[in-house]
Amino acid sequence: MRELAEWLMARDDIAVFSHRAPDGDAAGSCIASALALRALGKRAAMFLPGGVPAYLDFLPFSDRVISDGIPPFPPKCALAVDVSSPELLGDNLKLFEACPERAVLDHHESNPMFGQLNVVRPERAATGEMVLELIRMLGVDLTKDMATCLFAAISSDTGHFNYSNTTAEALEAAADCVRAQADVDLITRRIYRTRTFARTKLLGLALSNASVECGVAYACVTNRMFQETGAARADTERIINYLIEIEGVRAAALFTEQEDGMTRVSLRSVAPYNVARDVALPLGGGGHERAAGITVPLPLDEAVRKVLKRIEEVL
Ligand code: 5GP
Ligand code: MN
Repeated sequence: MRELAEWLMARDDIAVFSHRAPDGDAAGSCIASALALRALGKRAAMFLPGGVPAYLDFLPFSDRVISDGIPPFPPKCALAVDVSSPELLGDNLKLFEACPERAVLDHHESNPMFGQLNVVRPERAATGEMVLELIRMLGVDLTKDMATCLFAAISSDTGHFNYSNTTAEALEAAADCVRAQADVDLITRRIYRTRTFARTKLLGLALSNASVECGVAYACVTNRMFQETGAARADTERIINYLIEIEGVRAAALFTEQEDGMTRVSLRSVAPYNVARDVALPLGGGGHERAAGITVPLPLDEAVRKVLKRIEEVL
């Protein structure tokens, strides 16, 4: 981390990237890193494929995040935060690769260390925790805006301090954000306690077609369901929690049909099953022990068969 801080201090015109379908950790870590670099007087631009989803638009400077790859200045170096593998940079991959110098700050065990400098800590609950550490090493004061972004990041990746990754360090980092005036009620209301009617209907459709077989719960979200409800792509986030929370279930999968005919798979498990290592990685995805994902280049029904077969073998 010290090496990364020194690396950044010696550079300027930095492009900060995070992953497609950005969640709170991706968007919060990306914005807070850029704000810290700007506090040092540097030029820093923020890139998120698809932009910040509507439910996270309370994040400060979320309207300044660039969704397509057109930078406001030619970046001299890149920092990828919370990006577990380069293809998750989406349409920004070319811009990232065009930067002559590239660093990676992440907490996914499956990260292939695709930067020239890599700080990867799987024991960290959120990349946001690592960004807080970086901000301290840069000698930058934690502002309310940065604290809001980082509390949202840590809250998102710990399921608001519910999941098994909720360490004392994660709680301490969140406490530091609250001391720096992060508004807990606003952040958690927008992330956990507000949903559009369209999202509510999508949740209902997905759950009404869910199945449980041999300890595995799964459900599908089709393109037709998006059309019927008017829900956004990001509205599938957390539907899978209802599947893994079913009593007796050991692993859960949510299959979302993509507009291009491929299938996005979200995976969750209970201890001791490791869905990143045993299911996602062998099928071309990645993630964490208990929360992983894959994009399978197959239509929905074939993706369901392939992934369920693999999960059953693992269980
Ligand atoms: P989610 O189910 O919330 O979309 O993703 C759960 C976790 O799996 C996240 O930490 C995410 O980074 C990881 N993940 C999801 N999809 C992919 C993927 O296609 N490739 C890789 N490498 N990781 C993924
Ligand atoms: Mn994360």
